[in-house]
Amino acid sequence: MREELREAVRTLCRRFGEEYWQRVDRERSYPDAFVRELTEQGWLGCLVPAEYGGPGLGTADASVILEEVNRSGANSSACHAQMYTMSVLLRHGSVQQKREYLPRIASGELRLQAFAVTEPDAGSDTTRISTFAALRGDRYVVHGRKVFISRVQHSDLMILLARTTPRDEVQRRTDGLSVFLVDLRAAGSAIGVHPIDTMINHETNELVFDGLEIPVENRIGEEGEGFRYILSGMNAERILLASESIGDAMYFIDHASAYAGQRVVFDRPIGQNQGVQFPLAEAYIRTRAAAALRDVAASKFDAGEPAGPEANMCKYAASEAAWRAANAAMDTFGGYGLSAEYGIERKFREARLYLVAPVSNNLILSYVGHHVLGMPRSY
Ligand SMILES: Cc1cc2nc3c(=O)[nH]c(=O)nc-3n(C[C@H](O)[C@H](O)[C@H](O)COP(=O)(O)OP(=O)(O)OC[C@H]3O[C@@H](n4cnc5c(N)ncnc54)[C@H](O)[C@@H]3O)c2cc1C
Repeated sequence: MREELREAVRTLCRRFGEEYWQRVDRERSYPDAFVRELTEQGWLGCLVPAEYGGPGLGTADASVILEEVNRSGANSSACHAQMYTMSVLLRHGSVQQKREYLPRIASGELRLQAFAVTEPDAGSDTTRISTFAALRGDRYVVHGRKVFISRVQHSDLMILLARTTPRDEVQRRTDGLSVFLVDLRAAGSAIGVHPIDTMINHETNELVFDGLEIPVENRIGEEGEGFRYILSGMNAERILLASESIGDAMYFIDHASAYAGQRVVFDRPIGQNQGVQFPLAEAYIRTRAAAALRDVAASKFDAGEPAGPEANMCKYAASEAAWRAANAAMDTFGGYGLSAEYGIERKFREARLYLVAPVSNNLILSYVGHHVLGMPRSY
């Protein structure tokens, strides 16, 4: 699918090889040069419609971009949020908000790379978030805490989900939540940013909101309807991160099958042994199946059709396929799999994230059990 697009992204990624990604991983630094290049070539603003200065591509195209990025050995998580946060603004933002921000996002002048939903006391139960935005005249004043909010130091704008009506005062627990476009450049000390050290190079933070003021015109859509808006962003996120997992899986399969053909032990290539061959073949089949599901999810999402089941299922299938591929590659490389020089251990750590985030796979099983198969709700 979309072969020219794939080839253009591959060409860019070839300039950022294993050595580059190992260095930023070791230094825990931000891959500035890579993100700059992706921005300048227009890939990070690819979803911005033509009327606002972008190429107006769809989620299916963005999926292919992120898949190729991860397949090359790169790590999309430094910048992928610009693509999935975009759908909240594109689908629910006002014309004025789009005019103000989209052209500058398309040109690379502004980055929209932060998405603030998760909270320490709510976890996967999003409707329990307690960060509160109180309307005071022409602005909202925000107090509360978020956790694992990534790329804040590398973004100008952030999509924020907050309560605007307390949970015990709404009819449905999904009511009373609102979405805001926060200008991080103007936030100053009203947002405390505390970096969280993780096992991967993923700049993520705890945020403390202490009287952050957001002008009313930066609320996206209607007050109290934010849960619905954020779900469209979350479906895009699931499809796009599934694509990263598909890319990761193919990275492991590409490298491990090549290595299995070359590494000779007991006078024959290790890949001649079915114990080495079969796990890689199985991971490949699972990856192709996940990609087919991802394609269905992306085309439904782009057509504006309900895509919740497919978005969730493709995220599950792709992250599990990548994790199988990661383990099969580790086994194929033997001791060298653990040696940083070969890149497998870095990707292994990076691929593990997707079983947990942006939604843990248990929650996807619950969603499918309840929403798709009609069984009783467990949460
Ligand atoms: C590196 C990193 C970056 C992230 N970036 C962002 C970001 O930019 N923005 C953002 O908003 N969030 C971000 N997150 C947060 C991420 O989305 C959450 O960690 C994830 O949704 C899981 O929430 P939790 O960690 O609170 O786990 P919990 O909700 O505490 O769950 C813990 C475990 O319990 C299981 N569990 C909970 N309830 C049930 C149930 N009813 N049935 C079965 N199992 C259950 C879960 O499956 C999980 O295995 C990031 C996380 C990480 C690690």
